[in-house]
Amino acid sequence: MNDKTHLEEKLIATIKADGPISVEQFMETCLGDPEHGYYMGKDPFGRGGDFITAPEVSQMFGEAIGVWLATAWLMMGKPEKVNLIELGPGRGTLMVDMLRAAKVVEEFTEAIEVHMVEMSPALRKAQGEALKGLPVNISWHQRFEQVPSGPCLIVANEFFDALAMKQITQVADSWFERMVELDENGELVLGLSEQPVAKADIPRWAKDAKDGDIAEYSPQRMAMAERVGAHIKKHGGAGLIVDYGHAMSFAGDTFQAVHKHKFVDVLHRPGQSDLTSHVDFEALAEGFEAGGASVFGPRTQRGFLIAMGLREREASLRKNARARERIMVSRQAERLIGEKQMGNLFKVLAITDGTLEEPHPFGLPDEMSGGDKGNDQS
Ligand code: SAH
Repeated sequence: MNDKTHLEEKLIATIKADGPISVEQFMETCLGDPEHGYYMGKDPFGRGGDFITAPEVSQMFGEAIGVWLATAWLMMGKPEKVNLIELGPGRGTLMVDMLRAAKVVEEFTEAIEVHMVEMSPALRKAQGEALKGLPVNISWHQRFEQVPSGPCLIVANEFFDALAMKQITQVADSWFERMVELDENGELVLGLSEQPVAKADIPRWAKDAKDGDIAEYSPQRMAMAERVGAHIKKHGGAGLIVDYGHAMSFAGDTFQAVHKHKFVDVLHRPGQSDLTSHVDFEALAEGFEAGGASVFGPRTQRGFLIAMGLREREASLRKNARARERIMVSRQAERLIGEKQMGNLFKVLAITDGTLEEPHPFGLPDEMSGGDKGNDQS
């Protein structure tokens, strides 16, 4: 029986010809292969897809961010034109909700030029449809480097977790890279590199790890953070980065695959399962700073959204809804901020060009935003 995915066949052929590939290369190919990559052909979100993201859970998420952006624009001194840049905009839902909420400051909406950074043709199409008819100029870019100069506001939700990362593991005081190779039956299997990883490449926090521990780090995420930081520093502006992950670096295996709303083995159905890993916000913050940006947070998604008025918005949506919808609105709010749901696992980091004051609500004490546990790793 041959029920292998196209990408699995391709990977097996590559490994047979050229030898094992790193977990990093595997992840990058599974997500971004131009022909068979996960994001290339289909819309992975929602009930019929593989997973649900915060903007797809409720409009309250994008609205809170839209209000944050409007405030940031005021703090920037109301530039006449501002590039609103979204990295990895998925279905376009977040952009639609942000733009609607941004209307609280009318001149802000008039200043916005939208720039979508999206590598997937299928998702570009979905975004175009979601944004159809809105009175803003929208451009699409394959890569962040193509976004034009000018004052900017940058938003990324669940973008960094989709960039590939490396895994290394310690064996008898040396570190080896995790690889994908072939077992005796010619099937994909995880293994280790033959050569140890150069000492200079091992993250400093991993040096106290025990034998057998796995450490993850991502040169791709770091390079992207540095580019984004440098852009904000050069052109002026601010940004919000939301993702699931941990506030402090630590050793652990967080590489995961999701297929049809279930966790599966990371080697299961390559190209058809979503592959991600926790974002290390401590490392990411260093990347933004290396580019010249100032960093605030991270706060938990729970702390951020409550401080941005999520409870009040929930109450007003409930007031205008029928009984059944009222229950749904509260369930959605709980999903976004519940401590055992997305509330603590997801973190929000703000970046600025360094000339702006500390943006709200990053200066608030924890208790003002509903029990914000910034370092919770669960
Ligand atoms: N922000 C959306 C989607 C998150 S999924 C939401 O919250 O619903 C990740 C998104 O990033 C997808 O749109 C995917 O196509 C895009 N993406 C992943 N890697 C990318 C890359 N290297 N360059 C550009 N876009 C990328």
